[in-house]
Amino acid sequence: MTRSAELFARAEAIVPGGVNSPVRAFRSVGGTPRFMREASGAWLTDADGNRYVDLVSSWGPMILGHAHPAVVEAVREAATRGLSFGTPTEGEIDLAEEIVRRVEPVEQVRLVNSGTEATMSAIRLARGFTGRSVVVKFAGCYHGHVDALLAEAGSGVATFGLPSTPGVTGAQATDTIVLPYNDLDAVAAAFAERGQDIACVITEAAAGNMGAVAPDDGFNAGLKRLCAAHGALLIMDEVMTGFRVSSAGWFGLEGVAGDLYCFGKVMSGGLPAAAFGGRADIMGHLAPAGPVYQAGTLAGNPVAVAAGLTTLRHATEDVYTALDTGADRLHALIHEALDQAGVVHTMQRAGSLVSVRFADEPGRNYDDMKAAETWRFPPFFHALLDRGVYFPPSVFEACFISAALDDETFGVIADALPHAARAAAAAEAPSS
Ligand code: PLP
Repeated sequence: MTRSAELFARAEAIVPGGVNSPVRAFRSVGGTPRFMREASGAWLTDADGNRYVDLVSSWGPMILGHAHPAVVEAVREAATRGLSFGTPTEGEIDLAEEIVRRVEPVEQVRLVNSGTEATMSAIRLARGFTGRSVVVKFAGCYHGHVDALLAEAGSGVATFGLPSTPGVTGAQATDTIVLPYNDLDAVAAAFAERGQDIACVITEAAAGNMGAVAPDDGFNAGLKRLCAAHGALLIMDEVMTGFRVSSAGWFGLEGVAGDLYCFGKVMSGGLPAAAFGGRADIMGHLAPAGPVYQAGTLAGNPVAVAAGLTTLRHATEDVYTALDTGADRLHALIHEALDQAGVVHTMQRAGSLVSVRFADEPGRNYDDMKAAETWRFPPFFHALLDRGVYFPPSVFEACFISAALDDETFGVIADALPHAARAAAAAEAPSS
């Protein structure tokens, strides 16, 4: 028995499913999750001492690579000065200023502890600001485990094949309209019918939780136009894309301004931190400046702020160039290996987010993404894992690369991929 298997057995006895976030359990690919012991640069080391090239990057945050010396030093230094004060600190202003400097439509920022908290609070603010209750979201977009947003969410929920989840009440679901991604006509129809009730449209600025699915040209601009015409707010969820796909996130690539933004992952530096922000006239409705209540004991935690701020300060244009080049290289390697093995596939891209769809056309929405030969993915994943490449353990997740990937690590990926492609080619469709 491996040490990971021993630990998983121990964990399953005491933690539901053995993990603290479902996708970590490997349910959609099978097998035993690897318990990691340490990480450095682009490498993870598990409890048995096996090393893996990391294409998950803690689901996004680690764009500089693991245990980046400057980030570790900033965390050490901040921790030495005290772990939490429950008072304002200067670092919180520095981090907010860094975010505002990078993302032009963001004028004010509130720090929170997770992406879920960011989207939950942004929606509360949108409802408080507009005095309306209905939220429009898109099938396959995941915005964290906010009750009202778990209808037909992607990622973990998609992985488990649940249309939504028990525990979300009918009232919460009634206030949520779920539409197909990249379908402006559907959004226009929803506004025509319920325009007076719609507080906001929330969208992933580019979708990354049904695999990588970029918005069609004009989709985000169309959302903005419809929201503005009907007095609703556009919430751009950039928890995944923010500070990853460019220094200003997806906004930096596309230039369509949302009214509110949600951030997390990269700006956390790998500690629990996230943020939401946007137009000052809207943010001014938050307590204590305004009536919409929102708070947090550990919000703006000085150690998390130090990690996030230092990560952003080291995320220079060179880092973004490295991410783009790395994404192109990964894309080309996967494509070539699958081609050579005769596996029908399409590479999906949203900036430097990369994923594979086992079908011959690009997917534009969640139905497309589910309609692929997803059963080819588990053997593909395990062949990579066996050869030291840690690919995201779900076909509905995109690869998150880091600037620490180098020729050596790409060599490991290049050696492993032909085996994975052959495993995908040999996979058999489940009998229905
Ligand atoms: N929004 C998006 C686009 C995400 O991808 C995620 C998490 O993956 C979240 C929100 C939720 O963030 P967290 O897991 O920090 O709660």
